[in-house]
This record gives sequence, structure tokens and C-alpha cells, in this order.
Amino acid sequence: MIKMQQVSKIYPNGVTALREVNLTINQGEFVYIVGPSGAGKSTFMKMMYREERPTSGSFLFKGIEVGKLKNRQIPELRRQIGVIFQDFKLLPSLTVYENVAFALEVVGEDRSQIRKKVLEVLDLVKLKHKERNYPDELSGGEQQRISIARAIVNRPSLVIADEPTGNLDPDTAWEIMEVFEEIYRRGTTVVMATHNRDIVNKMRHRVLAIDGGKIVRDEEKGMYGYEV
Ligand code: ADP
Ligand code: ADP
Repeated sequence: MIKMQQVSKIYPNGVTALREVNLTINQGEFVYIVGPSGAGKSTFMKMMYREERPTSGSFLFKGIEVGKLKNRQIPELRRQIGVIFQDFKLLPSLTVYENVAFALEVVGEDRSQIRKKVLEVLDLVKLKHKERNYPDELSGGEQQRISIARAIVNRPSLVIADEPTGNLDPDTAWEIMEVFEEIYRRGTTVVMATHNRDIVNKMRHRVLAIDGGKIVRDEEKGMYGYEV
């Protein structure tokens, strides 16, 4: 699904964020990206949904050279990828229902299909009863579950999460991880950058460790491995 060959990223200010990274991620994998702050994790994630592009090397998503897509082709790429952030990024003036429906309205889905799909994902994240509430009426964990619902309502084949539990207390973080685990069980590829040692060590999946822009470790069912 993702194939990186000799991918480097040098920002305009001269900072090298990724150095000659080679990597394959297959459909249906669950991958944790770990590493110290500034290691290049966010840059790596941003490349997948074309927020950043490689300075050199090849970054293929389903065989497509993502860095070479024209601007008008980017929406089509992003429809196949659900993105979840640490700070949720919900629209405060829209209800829970509207926040999730928005992703379908922009692709021109009809009203009854939207209703059906939104209620299905709200059911999956167990927040159907909050559909009329606004984001600021929800807890952090609930807001994150809504942002997950929004990310998966288009049925993307890849879900990317950048520190999704970073703003949550430990119990809530585990609840959020259960949701990702369910998404993974349904066959969606999940790539998650995280600093949450306990989660990585208990919910075992492939671990990619990045340091100084290089992949320094790649293990099946690996451990977090860094001292904080
Ligand atoms: P991480 O997510 O692991 O903390 P990042 O990918 O955010 O790492 O950053 C990797 C390196 O690239 C850091 O040195 C960071 O300061 C730098 N960097 C990230 N984004 C930019 C940017 N937009 N412009 C310049 N440098 C950046
Ligand atoms: P995180 O590790 O949580 O991703 P960062 O501090 O690396 O946080 O990045 C926060 C934001 O600032 C990102 O959008 C990144 O692109 C940008 N950024 C990071 N470092 C730099 C930098 N040296 N110059 C410009 N923008 C940067």
C-alpha cells in the first residue's frame, strides 16, 4: 500500500527531517511510529496525505507517486485516507452529526446515504446519542471519537493518526485505542505516531522507530523501546 524508496525531506530552512527512508507498509497492517520529538514522525505522516512532499526519492501510495500528484488530484487521494490529530480539529460551530456528515457532503453523497453512514459510524464510536451536541459539550475522549468517526465515514483504506491519545488521560486513551483496534480488525490499515509507551507495549503491533530522520528499528509486534 505504501512504498518509500530513498525518501528524503529537507525543509526550506535547511532542516533535514527524513533521510533516505526505505519502507513498505502492506494493506491491513497496524504500524506504530515511535521516536523522540523532532525525529521526523509528523513529516512522515504528512507525506502520506500530501501535506508535505519528498525532496527526493519515491513515495508510492497504491502505486501512485504521491509527490507528483497535481493539486486537483489531491482531494481524490485524501478521500482514501482518514487523518486523526492530537487536537481533534472538529468544527466548533457544527454539531457532532454535522461534523461527520461534512466529509460526505463535500463528496456529493445524497442525503439518505449520508444519514445512514453517519449513524453507522457514530454507532461504531458509541456516540449516537450525542449527535445533536456541539464539540465543546463533549469530553476530550468523546471529541476524539467524533474525529475518528469523521475520518472513517468515507471508508478510507488507510487511517493515519498523529498522537491521537496525546491530550487524553490514560483510561480515555485506552478507550480510543479500542476504537482503532476495531478499525484495524475490519481490515483498514492504521499508521499511528505515538509517545504512549504503555499502549505500544501492551497492544502489540509493528513498531517503526524513527530517530534523526532515519528508520532505526522495524519490528513485528515490537516494543516502544525508548526511555522518556
Ligand atoms: P516529530 O513529529 O518526530 O516531532 P517532525 O517531523 O515534526 O518530527 O520534525 C522533524 C524535524 O523537521 C524537526 O527538526 C522539525 O523542527 C523540522 N520541521 C518540521 N516541520 C518543519 C517545517 N514546516 N519547516 C521547517 N522545519 C520543520
Ligand atoms: P509535533 O512533534 O507535535 O509534530 P512540532 O513542533 O514538530 O510538533 O511541529 C508543530 C508544527 O510546527 C508542525 O506543523 C510543523 O510542520 C511546524 N514546525 C516544526 N518545526 C518547525 C520549524 N523548525 N520551522 C517551521 N515550522 C516548524
